[in-house]
Amino acid sequence: MIMRLLRRNKGYSCHQVLEVMQAYIDGEVDEQVALNVVEHLEMCKQCAHEVELFRRIQASVRERADEIDPRIIDRLTAYARELSSTDPYLNDSSNN
Ligand SMILES: [Zn+2]
Repeated sequence: MIMRLLRRNKGYSCHQVLEVMQAYIDGEVDEQVALNVVEHLEMCKQCAHEVELFRRIQASVRERADEIDPRIIDRLTAYARELSSTDPYLNDSSNN
């Protein structure tokens, strides 16, 4: 539902990038959405950093999937999301 909404706008805000970030990293977004994200990441170091952080968390989680309690994975994901959603820069761009 949210994907369709975001797809209409060309050029994502930081907030929009973070909303689709998880799906983007998982390769679950369509080509247009991925393009918008990539375009934004090229201009915005902060989001590029967030994506990098997310990727690292996921990569290390996958590597140790057998040893890690799924609840810890949930926590990490929630933590990463919290980091993004409490960012003051992002709250500024929420009503454009
Ligand atoms: Zn950004």
